[in-house]
Amino acid sequence: MIYQGQAIQVIALEDNIFELRFDREGSSINKFDEQALTEFKAAIEALQGQSNIAGVLVSSAKDAFIVGADITMFHGVFARSEEEIVEMNLGLNQIFNALEDLPCPTVTAINGLALGGGFELCLSTDYRVMADSAKVGLPEVKLGIFPGWGGSVRLPRLIGVDNAIEWICSGNEKRADKALFEGAADVVVSVDQVRAAALDLLAQCQAGKVDYLARRAEKTSPVKLTPMDAMMAFETAKGFVAGKAGPHYPAPVAAIKAMQKHAAMGRDKALEVEAKAFAKVAKTDVCANLVGLFLSDQQIKKVSASHVEGAAKVGQAAVLGAGIMGGGIAYQSAVKGTPILMKDINEQAIQTGLDEASRLLSGQVERGRMDSKKMAASLSRIRPTLSYGDFAEVDLVVEAVVENPKVKGMVLAEVEKQVDKDTILTSNTSTISISRLAESLQRPENFCGMHFFNPVHRMPLVEVIRGEKTSDAAIAATVAYAQKMGKTPIVVNDCPGFLVNRILFPYFGGFAKLLEAGVELARIDKVMERFGWPMGPAYLLDVVGLDTAVHANGVMAEGFPDRMASDNPSAIAKLVEQGRLGQKSGSGFYNYEKDRKGKLRKQPAPEIQALLDSVVTEKRDFSDEEIIAAMMVPLCMETVRCLEDNIVASAAEADMGLIYGIGFPPFRGGALRYIDAMGVAEFCQLADSFAGLGNLYKPTDKLRAMAADNQRFYS
Ligand code: NAD
Repeated sequence: MIYQGQAIQVIALEDNIFELRFDREGSSINKFDEQALTEFKAAIEALQGQSNIAGVLVSSAKDAFIVGADITMFHGVFARSEEEIVEMNLGLNQIFNALEDLPCPTVTAINGLALGGGFELCLSTDYRVMADSAKVGLPEVKLGIFPGWGGSVRLPRLIGVDNAIEWICSGNEKRADKALFEGAADVVVSVDQVRAAALDLLAQCQAGKVDYLARRAEKTSPVKLTPMDAMMAFETAKGFVAGKAGPHYPAPVAAIKAMQKHAAMGRDKALEVEAKAFAKVAKTDVCANLVGLFLSDQQIKKVSASHVEGAAKVGQAAVLGAGIMGGGIAYQSAVKGTPILMKDINEQAIQTGLDEASRLLSGQVERGRMDSKKMAASLSRIRPTLSYGDFAEVDLVVEAVVENPKVKGMVLAEVEKQVDKDTILTSNTSTISISRLAESLQRPENFCGMHFFNPVHRMPLVEVIRGEKTSDAAIAATVAYAQKMGKTPIVVNDCPGFLVNRILFPYFGGFAKLLEAGVELARIDKVMERFGWPMGPAYLLDVVGLDTAVHANGVMAEGFPDRMASDNPSAIAKLVEQGRLGQKSGSGFYNYEKDRKGKLRKQPAPEIQALLDSVVTEKRDFSDEEIIAAMMVPLCMETVRCLEDNIVASAAEADMGLIYGIGFPPFRGGALRYIDAMGVAEFCQLADSFAGLGNLYKPTDKLRAMAADNQRFYS
């Protein structure tokens, strides 16, 4: 042993070969945190001090190779000045360069996942031997940055510009066969053979059978493309990637620009270009927000882990109602391995539910994500029924019948008589109070809300709603089942609309205010889509269903009359009166027609102009910024209230709920991060400037106190 740290050891093997081994004490993974980086430098210095060094094997003693840099360091590091970030990266790059420049061949044995900085380490050795089960990749763009430890320099020189752009700009993990085919890996073997194969490759280098210096020179020289070819490759990619990433995610295009700029340079100059461009993206709000989201996601996973401790296993589930939601829930449960009974009172509905599940599964098969055997197995896990015959064996029931408190109360009381005394009952209601529904049950402690979002297979969020009498055991089983279904559960307390709809409806309230001021609806949609929403509010309402929105709005107005009730009949209610229910009826704020692929396309609906004119109370001009504020302030204010009212336990859970549940633009980090970015005092000022639009815009006393105290939601 020539070096022994807490994260890295350097072991002398036979024949002057040394093994640089990553093996973090007391952890199941290796990552590049401050400790590992400090030790990495010391370990390389120890290797540089070996006079007869004949080869270096880089390895990991964990199942994964190195999962990347420690993302919890990022906010602190990126808070430094641009110059300091450049200095820091260039300093770290010297360690990677020192490994690359050792006077002997170097090989990495990639036994498992190697991501980000972990894969950049692999790139700095001469060769990579990879396990067939391992994956590698550079996912930095997902955090609003791009590889800054030489990845943007070495990868295009190793696998070609086009491939490197795809790897870096998609941020996707790559399997071993792909890495081998494109030249990022040199040998692929089974995981138990990786170390031996890497040592064998070192022996071949020593024997002069492989020219490792020529290989090394490729990575340290300019990219091998004529200026014309380089120009073509980079310019075409820039247009394509900019179109895909959209205007709010600058990192992928910044990565291409950096690669273009340093393509004709040798390694050291190229690394300087990389460091400067990296520092620029690291300083963007987008990066801060995406890193924040990553950390919030980790926090949510920890919270969920604490909820599911001792959870009863759901081996058999059931769903009541085979409609849009029931069908989706059955599909999701089945595809993720939990058998589910799907009960309806209508045979036709059951057939429709099954057809939908079958359509989704065929889509997976067509896209090569599933084979027909797995499809058949998934389908067989859905057992359709018109009776309660098999309900005695069910561990958890999701009620997803029509949104009517009387019907739901009746159905829940009925099913409670058919199931075991420990069976958990849940409701997928969007609006009805869980504590109120619990009144129809003998065992209200076994009952909670399990609110999915439409379409179930695509939307990641499940709100798990705790009623007054809900037990921890019911929450535990429901959270565990949601996780098993591949969803992100967030536990919230009961109130009208729960967390997500309680926040969404004030946003629609802002939209109604703009219509009352005579602002054109297509313009509102366009401004909010440019702001980053996947669809504008009018379009979103059409997708939700205008009748559903009117119904939910009634529940919200009853629950929060001070700010959500309105004397004026809204445009939405008037459209419903005319039979315009949104996409489901072919018309709402827009008209809908099927295109050649059968997809619904929206068209303007000039015939509703008179109706829109009739809701205008006082015409007023709004700039684009004012439209954004009129829409976002009520949404943000209601998020603040949910946190203050303890509907949701933390800022992170509130923000992630909005991102996963209603597509809040991720790069803006969520409502509370949005307030933080603006400054709490500035936000209150902005809200006050809209006071004339009603109580939805009124900051709470607590928020004003936060502003006075210069506090934030995130430290
Ligand atoms: P849907 O009308 O498509 O389906 C309801 C189904 O329930 C119908 O097939 C009906 O035959 C069946 N049903 C009625 N009474 C029944 C009974 N006694 N036993 C068994 N089945 C019965 O409705 P949906 O859109 O799937 O909504 C279902 C629930 O999910 C509602 O509470 C709704 O608020 C909630 N939800 C809907 C959405 C959405 O976007 N559609 C999103 C989240 C939650």
